[in-house]
Amino acid sequence: MADDRYQGHDYYLVDDLLTEEHKLIRETVRTWVKQNVSPIIEEYAQKAEFPIHLLKGLGEIGAFGPYIPAEYGGPGLDQISYGIIMQELERCDSGLRSTASVQSSLVMFPIWSYATEAQKQKWLPKLATGELLGCFGLTEPDHGSNPNGMVTNFKDAGDHVILNGAKMWISNAPFADIAVVWAKDEEGTIRGLVVERGMEGFTTPTTHGKWSLRASATGELVFDNVKVPKANLFPDIRGLKGPLSCLNSARYGIAWGALGAALDCYDTALRYSKERIQFGKPIGSFQLQQKKLAEMITEITKAQLLVWRLGVLKNDHRASPQQISMAKRNNVEIALRTAREARQMLGGMGITGEYPIMRHMMNLESVVTYEGTHDIHLLITGMDVTGFNAFN
Ligand SMILES: Cc1cc2nc3c(=O)[nH]c(=O)nc-3n(C[C@H](O)[C@H](O)[C@H](O)COP(=O)(O)OP(=O)(O)OC[C@H]3O[C@@H](n4cnc5c(N)ncnc54)[C@H](O)[C@@H]3O)c2cc1C
Repeated sequence: MADDRYQGHDYYLVDDLLTEEHKLIRETVRTWVKQNVSPIIEEYAQKAEFPIHLLKGLGEIGAFGPYIPAEYGGPGLDQISYGIIMQELERCDSGLRSTASVQSSLVMFPIWSYATEAQKQKWLPKLATGELLGCFGLTEPDHGSNPNGMVTNFKDAGDHVILNGAKMWISNAPFADIAVVWAKDEEGTIRGLVVERGMEGFTTPTTHGKWSLRASATGELVFDNVKVPKANLFPDIRGLKGPLSCLNSARYGIAWGALGAALDCYDTALRYSKERIQFGKPIGSFQLQQKKLAEMITEITKAQLLVWRLGVLKNDHRASPQQISMAKRNNVEIALRTAREARQMLGGMGITGEYPIMRHMMNLESVVTYEGTHDIHLLITGMDVTGFNAFN
């Protein structure tokens, strides 16, 4: 992907709904991505390595906690800006966007929302610049879609607590300086606490062998009688609504982000269809290829309108978790479908690293599963419209 010719696509003039600031932010992130990430992303994905040197640059373009106010080191942008940044990052690679999503919505958001003033001052400014990297531990080996069943727990021990248990599938874990961890107290109530690298008994083994999100580091969080100071506990938040509020924010970013991957696949396939000659003609002149492209841009356009409207609602604090769920599910689904169709349009070239499509397609297989699987989001919509809970 060294030759990044992406231009953006706006079939319904959705740009008219954005402010000049939104467009400037998009241009800034796109330029940064083209200069710093596009030339190296394929190589890092192939060798399954996280490009850790990009953290500082991600901080500089405002990708870490875009909506965190300036008093805590963030750029204080609105929710549409947050979405645009995630879209431009995922236009290049879902792993890159995952790192920024986790840092923003799963680490900075809970600290900003639930931490004490001292905890905020301690961590937020350094997370905003990328000096510190965070991760979020909710999923466990035996509790994925049903996090309420978690067994990771802590016991009171005076000025600290003793934490035991394990989390798995944790993005950023192998390199993270801090982990926002959700665990049960002695009453079985879910609480949030910050575990710091270097605490005795805390290890973060890397998950190897992924065919997806290869440029994003994934690992476990293992807690073996870890002494965590009580000063690291979030004081007031109790129950599943703590982690779910973080997931809401991250899922919102994913709805925008996945659309970035779809746009990149469409852009690549459209250009290829005009340049690739078979039977004496560009393949884009054949009806079957046009059908694929026409359907892609139709779904992309609907998804662009969906996230823009969701952004307006989110700015007004009116976006419901169910609306966010619908957008996450829809946009990841259309991105995955776009990637699969686009890959076919490139024939054999579609499976190579010369083009980004296969990497997007494999990445999206994780995006469709994490932050609530495709089917779980369908059940959320189903329950919202019928009033019946089909989860259990
Ligand atoms: C690359 C990657 C990065 C991740 N990063 C993080 C992270 O940073 N932090 C974190 O905490 N987690 C993370 N996750 C975990 C992710 O959120 C979980 O994988 C996801 O929630 C699904 O859980 P599971 O894998 O245990 O699947 P399961 O819950 O075991 O589900 C398996 C299948 O059963 C279906 N299913 C489950 N329950 C029902 C039901 N009631 N009705 C119908 N079908 C059902 C699911 O839809 C799915 O298809 C990550 C995952 C991946 C792959």
